[in-house]
Amino acid sequence: MKITFRGVRGSIPVPGSLTRLWGGNTSCISIEGAGEDLIILDAGTGIRTIGTRLMDEKKYKNIHIFITHAHWDHIQGLPFFEPLYSSNFTIHFYSAIRKDFHCRDIISKVMKPPYFPYTIDDWKAVVHFHDIIPGTDVQIPGCRISSAKLNHPWDATAFRITAADKSCVYVTDTAPFDHMILSWDFVGRAPDLTSMPLTDEAPDLARMKSDLVNLCRNSDMVIYDTMFLDSDYNRNPHWGHSTPSHAIEICKEANVNQLVLFHHSPDRSDEALDIIKKDFAAYPDLKVFVARELLTLDLNKEGK
Ligand SMILES: [Zn+2]
Ligand SMILES: [Zn+2]
Repeated sequence: MKITFRGVRGSIPVPGSLTRLWGGNTSCISIEGAGEDLIILDAGTGIRTIGTRLMDEKKYKNIHIFITHAHWDHIQGLPFFEPLYSSNFTIHFYSAIRKDFHCRDIISKVMKPPYFPYTIDDWKAVVHFHDIIPGTDVQIPGCRISSAKLNHPWDATAFRITAADKSCVYVTDTAPFDHMILSWDFVGRAPDLTSMPLTDEAPDLARMKSDLVNLCRNSDMVIYDTMFLDSDYNRNPHWGHSTPSHAIEICKEANVNQLVLFHHSPDRSDEALDIIKKDFAAYPDLKVFVARELLTLDLNKEGK
């Protein structure tokens, strides 16, 4: 199973001299060798270059795109994903159903004028939209995708990709599970963390955390939202993101030995990411990677 990072940022693309080395595109990962088809996780701006490559090399006909949630940084590359405009492809979208908001709505509601000149009716590919329920599995040729609900405003979904004897888990975007539940109603300002969690939220937080730990358990690699450092989290815990310590805690509990720090803050410069890489280079009993644009990790070569 080969995992290639096409976009590693959260929130907004940040091209420019400060992000030249680690990359400025928003969240998108491609996975090859997990079954017969191409898998794509999220459709941030990083998806554009995969599209160009797919048009050129004609290696895949079927593409499965899993969308964690509808925030801009996870869908904003889609209008420029060329295979959608080609009849040579069959493209499946998957996302969790939220209230009466379906997978199709995530895309069709912004893929139209005045936001963009084309609508989904202009796509030439054969497109299928699949609503999924976190906690249930999706089977595609040669690969199983399991999921769990994350702690994020308007909910996000973690995906575990299992094929043959390899698996990786994609966990973005999520807050940790020790302070508050973030869901439909956006918390507009930072709450006082010393009074959290509220008694009525504690059991649900514990359940959400154990579902995620179970999803990650014994997997070969976990890719985790680490947009925050500790000071960022203390300032904005209601934004729904984690720190490397939160990610490490989940990996330890789930018996995972390889972690990829992902969904970097747009404010994190190349220099800052170099320091993070160095800080975690010799972490005991855990191999920590920092996601860099166009980095490929091959689970058949990386070992525990
Ligand atoms: Zn995000
Ligand atoms: Zn988000």
